[in-house]
Amino acid sequence: MPERRHFWRKSLEPIIAARNLKKIYRMGSAKIHALDGVDIDVMPGEVCAILGTSGSGKSTLLSLLAGLEHPTAGRIFIKKKPTYKMNESELVDFRLKHIGFVFQSFNLMPTMTAVENVALPLMFRGVPRARRMEAAKKLLVEMGLRQQLKNLPNQLSGGQQQRVSIARAIIAKPEIIFADEPTGNLDSVTAEQIMDIMCGQAKKRGATLLFVTHDPAKAEYADQVIHIIDGKVAKRETHGPAEISTEEIIQAELGIQGEEK
Ligand code: ADP
Ligand code: MG
Repeated sequence: MPERRHFWRKSLEPIIAARNLKKIYRMGSAKIHALDGVDIDVMPGEVCAILGTSGSGKSTLLSLLAGLEHPTAGRIFIKKKPTYKMNESELVDFRLKHIGFVFQSFNLMPTMTAVENVALPLMFRGVPRARRMEAAKKLLVEMGLRQQLKNLPNQLSGGQQQRVSIARAIIAKPEIIFADEPTGNLDSVTAEQIMDIMCGQAKKRGATLLFVTHDPAKAEYADQVIHIIDGKVAKRETHGPAEISTEEIIQAELGIQGEEK
């Protein structure tokens, strides 16, 4: 039993943790405090929304957490690793292994078909072509794009392009998915479908999803909502699985017993 308690303590540590994060941009002689002392904890498997108006510092926060930019001050731990201390090549390697990205403007390779775009992350991991194309095809079919496998991005609607980019983000099974305004370029009906697919896929795979939005309606999809105003956390809300149900504990215990055999 003590081992199990230990397991639970361990399993309940945040997969993403940041302390006193600051980012100052210098524009000539002006200093812009894009982030001004932000603390964040995201638990494994959690869907977390960063909610704030334009210019509040959301994209800056995401890019620091993803290791795309270095903080001016503060500490970041992803999977307990101090990523804020890593150099560029360590960060590239870390992102490749653990992180998937979804962007507002999709960022698909324009000369590659839908299935080739989705297969790309597996190429970087050395998966042979036939196997990666098969995996990409399966995932796109699951996302309702059977008819569009061979389409180029400019032969797809915005919603279809975002499905492709979600598939690309998850195909290599990252533990963490970052999404910056993933529905910012979509009409409201399509946006809801994309939120359903993105959050549904993250939950199904047990991945941690952190997305940025300016739209309070989109934040409703999240277990935790972090409100950002002028580079500071103004409010935190949790909608649920922060508290673990008895059912989940029983399931996890059964899972542990299974693993121990
Ligand atoms: P959001 O994503 O919430 O719209 P950002 O994180 O993009 O906000 O920007 C936060 C603030 O930092 C804004 O005032 C923005 O103009 C400024 N900023 C962002 N990136 C840079 C940069 N590379 N150089 C200078 N200022 C920047
Ligand atoms: Mg932004």
